[in-house]
Amino acid sequence: MNPSVDHDLCIGCGLCAEICPEVFEMGDDDLAYVIEGASCEDAGCCQDAAESCPTEAISL
Ligand code: SF4
Repeated sequence: MNPSVDHDLCIGCGLCAEICPEVFEMGDDDLAYVIEGASCEDAGCCQDAAESCPTEAISL
């Protein structure tokens, strides 16, 4: 599973980083980023984060 964030859709609400801080972080530009080397398999919270994203910017 390779998560990604569509920066055209992300509104920088921060929910994904709150729900799944092992995988998502907020950048200096206030958009969400996938932490390099992070694994959804290990973290197990990607699905929750993706489903909670208000703009469906997260693809798994
Ligand atoms: S939950 Fe969605 S809109 Fe909010 S910061 Fe994460 S990717 Fe962006």
